[in-house]
Amino acid sequence: LADRLQGTIKKITGKGKVSEQDVKEMAREVRLALLEADVNFKVVKDLINRIKERAVGQEVMESLTPGQQVIKVVREELTTLMGGEQSKIAVADRAPTVIMMVGLQGAGKTTTTGKLANHLRKKHNRSPLLVAADIYRPAAINQLETLGEQLDMPVFSMGNDVNPVDIAKKAIEQAKAEHNDYVIIDTAGRLHIDNELMDELQQIKSSVKPDETFLVVDSMTGQDAINVADSFNEQLDVSGVVLTKLDGDTRGGAALSIKAVTDKPIKFAGVGEKTDDFEAFHPERMASRILGMGDVLSLIEKAETNVDEKQAKELETKMRNASFTFDDFLEQMGQVKNMGPLDDLMAMIPGAGKMKGLKNAQLDEKQLVHVEAIIQSMTKKERQEPSIMNASRKKRIAKGSGTSVSQVNRLLKQFEEMKKMMKQMTGTQKGKKGKGMNL
Ligand code: GDP
Ligand code: MG
Repeated sequence: LADRLQGTIKKITGKGKVSEQDVKEMAREVRLALLEADVNFKVVKDLINRIKERAVGQEVMESLTPGQQVIKVVREELTTLMGGEQSKIAVADRAPTVIMMVGLQGAGKTTTTGKLANHLRKKHNRSPLLVAADIYRPAAINQLETLGEQLDMPVFSMGNDVNPVDIAKKAIEQAKAEHNDYVIIDTAGRLHIDNELMDELQQIKSSVKPDETFLVVDSMTGQDAINVADSFNEQLDVSGVVLTKLDGDTRGGAALSIKAVTDKPIKFAGVGEKTDDFEAFHPERMASRILGMGDVLSLIEKAETNVDEKQAKELETKMRNASFTFDDFLEQMGQVKNMGPLDDLMAMIPGAGKMKGLKNAQLDEKQLVHVEAIIQSMTKKERQEPSIMNASRKKRIAKGSGTSVSQVNRLLKQFEEMKKMMKQMTGTQKGKKGKGMNL
């Protein structure tokens, strides 16, 4: 998913103005990428519509950096799609709180039972009792007991001759007696959903009335994971989802569809085989990961914090009126310097893509230091009206800034050129005021 989107993202990020055609193109790529990642087609359709709607709307067109704003919209919509942060676990009014784990065989129920117990103890100081209620697979009880030993936690089992409903009930009695405040019931799974399994799970559920029913879903199974989640939820009304094997799933398709299809929150993620490989599910992080754009994101954040939109608008007006001064220039440079490497930054400066000459001539990072020094050596008046500088003043300024007269002259010339360029650019934008921010 990430690969596919990278190119599109790169293309659109630096855009100083986004046309409806750009958005369409982007939307098409996102759509294909999502479908390729096994995201449910209906989910994709809704998502794309929302992205398009927002991306051609005011929010983007009036922003400082429309290209990045589009990406931001995509990320936000992906995040919303996966739900808010939902890692809370119910606490019963009267202990113990009962959690029932359900899911297909191999999804990771037993492993997750251990991980969750570990999490409850470590993060919430609880003392869980693990319950082996998968009586069909001979090794299942052993597996949980081994986990219990590893974690030094009690495991309740009655062998595999006793009905899982009775096991669950007895386990809760024991938890009360032993003051275990959580009971986590590891149930059986099948390779495929069948009635017998569902009947059994429904019986357990109706007799112990768990406070949480967690559906454990293997994220590697893609579209299947969604279908499974949908039918488990339909029959058992689960309270949350645990997505396992996210460490192996680079596509993230399951994560994207589950909330939309089941309307149940993804609460936790399994990210490895060890008991510590377990974390609260963060929709936002997942969205970034899916977009494979950690660096792009941080650029967006930088752009958002460092470039004050209002200031930029004021600047635009100044440029339009050709009243842009060396003071403004200095201020701009300050903002630019706050943001880091210049190459990345050029893309963020509105309209800078077009200022090719400016980039090469003026914004060489080493030169910036000199430029700053020269401007600082000018008087207030000179900064506003550079033409008043005579030869002797230029000499003084060169001396004061540790540069040469020719460097001062070059800067003055470039500044005039820049002003001309700005005027031209803003000139072509007249009549389109308020739409996009082409400086
Ligand atoms: P169950 O049949 O649903 O109880 O599934 P298990 O808990 O026995 O897990 C099946 C397999 O998946 C085991 O080999 C686990 O080690 C592995 N597994 C479970 N969760 C994760 C995970 O988050 N990441 C990885 N890489 N493997 C996992
Ligand atoms: Mg198991």
